[in-house]
Amino acid sequence: MAPITSSETGNKNGSQKHPHYKPNYIPDHNYVRILDTTLRDGEQSPGAAMAPHQKLNIARQLAKLGVDVIEAGFPCSSKDDFAAVKMIAEEVGSNVDDDGYVPVIAGGARCNEKDIEIAWEAVKGAKRPRISTFIATSEIHMKHKLKKTKEEVLDVACRMVKFARSLGCDDVQFITEDAVRSEKEFLYQILGEVIKAGATTIDIPDTVGIAMPWEYEKLIADIKANTDGIENVVIAAHCHNDFGLAVANTIAGARAGARQLEVTMNGIGERAGNAALEEVVMALKCRGAAVFDGLYTSINTKHILKTSKMVEDYTNMHLQPHKALVGANAFVHESGIHQDGWLKHKATYEIIPPESIGLERSNEVGIVLGKLSGRQGLMKRLKELGYHLKENEIDSVFWKFKAVADKKKRVTDVDLRALVSNEVTQVESIWKLSDIQVTCGTLGLSTATVRLNNTIDGGIHVACSVGSGSIDSVFKAVNLIIKEAIKLVQYTLTTMIEGVDVVITTHVRICRMNDHASTHSLVEESIQPIFSGIGAGTDVVVSSVEAYIAAVNKMLDSKK
Ligand code: MN
Repeated sequence: MAPITSSETGNKNGSQKHPHYKPNYIPDHNYVRILDTTLRDGEQSPGAAMAPHQKLNIARQLAKLGVDVIEAGFPCSSKDDFAAVKMIAEEVGSNVDDDGYVPVIAGGARCNEKDIEIAWEAVKGAKRPRISTFIATSEIHMKHKLKKTKEEVLDVACRMVKFARSLGCDDVQFITEDAVRSEKEFLYQILGEVIKAGATTIDIPDTVGIAMPWEYEKLIADIKANTDGIENVVIAAHCHNDFGLAVANTIAGARAGARQLEVTMNGIGERAGNAALEEVVMALKCRGAAVFDGLYTSINTKHILKTSKMVEDYTNMHLQPHKALVGANAFVHESGIHQDGWLKHKATYEIIPPESIGLERSNEVGIVLGKLSGRQGLMKRLKELGYHLKENEIDSVFWKFKAVADKKKRVTDVDLRALVSNEVTQVESIWKLSDIQVTCGTLGLSTATVRLNNTIDGGIHVACSVGSGSIDSVFKAVNLIIKEAIKLVQYTLTTMIEGVDVVITTHVRICRMNDHASTHSLVEESIQPIFSGIGAGTDVVVSSVEAYIAAVNKMLDSKK
């Protein structure tokens, strides 16, 4: 059969149309099914348990992604999990779209009648229900965990696959747990027998995550070459990340003929996790034609980011910033050389358009201004913010920007606006912070002592005040010195944790009390001029008072 091209099969979402579903057969040799097991293996991550309604929400999202199979849970493990799988089967697993797509809903079961019956009860409301049953085939598991001989394992495996089929389930996945450490001859034998017994997908897991990519690739190739009836089933790859090789092993399995890849969102799962859906799918999407002889999936990748965030939220499994594709830094360019290249041509440093995983790039994302940023990145951002500076102004802003960036890892738009407005308005600082001391706690009111320098007369002024908290007492002490009635309009702070250092950025907006500078003719409301200041540092009180004094200086300057 000639390979199907995307233009022939693209659906309205721009992703590849799913081929006709038949449990044991994929009409297009290059088509790779994606089985998502976020709700089963992913939920086995320590601390990642989810409520049934959360699992249902994730399943809905997985259907938007277009995963071929949702492994929805392990129904015999708890009443909650049974309920969740049943709900998913009846709702998400019954909702056939215009293109005929509906995900297969799979429920896990050990190789015993009770587990299999419960799994079937949970999934049978789906349009395409599947039972996934597993038994260990490695010496170490059979001897120590199952306490069964090879013959016993072989016997129970075949009986249970037949039992699952006898319930009316025509889609049975059989899993040889710990396959990578199993004797190959035994694998060929047991797989051949379960295929005869009616298995439609056979899954070859690296349960303990020990394989190297070429080993796993050879294992799949050997099974393909030596197992009777293998041409009548779909081979599945299921890899764990104990050496950080889950994705590498999974795609190596695909090279050798695995056509169902088992993955989880964000790569969560037992211990170090599973292969990450987003990494496997994007590798095939971006390199499938070039280095996988045309392998492809039907995943609508635009939903990746949203799904990732949902899973992160529900499981409380937070992503490291440099997580491939979905981490906060995955599409961020920081150094000046990289930013310059990226601005000239995105592909200089970007192999995947972020839009393809659903990341709509705002100005916030593409370039982060930090201490390694160059003039090009700064100028571009200032232009986007609407500032057209003269050459000498750019120079001055650039050096101020560098000074702020040295203190602060990331310079935000608000910081930039403050820098530029200082530059444009040339504010003279009347007051400078000299020293500050604060006591706070639960015993009484906070007290602050503040010492400011007056840069005009060179005087040193000290004042003390009490307040409802440390920030309040400091601001009041400043007010006593400058002898102005000030209204605090807004106070915000953001924190950024870099290792052990917490950088606190404070933004303060103030206005004069009873200052009617102008009146809006229509609403008769007084419009107060507002002055803002920012402070950054590792101490929240010092950062706050710096921001406050910066705003005060602007306010006093405007009087002149
Ligand atoms: Mn697993």
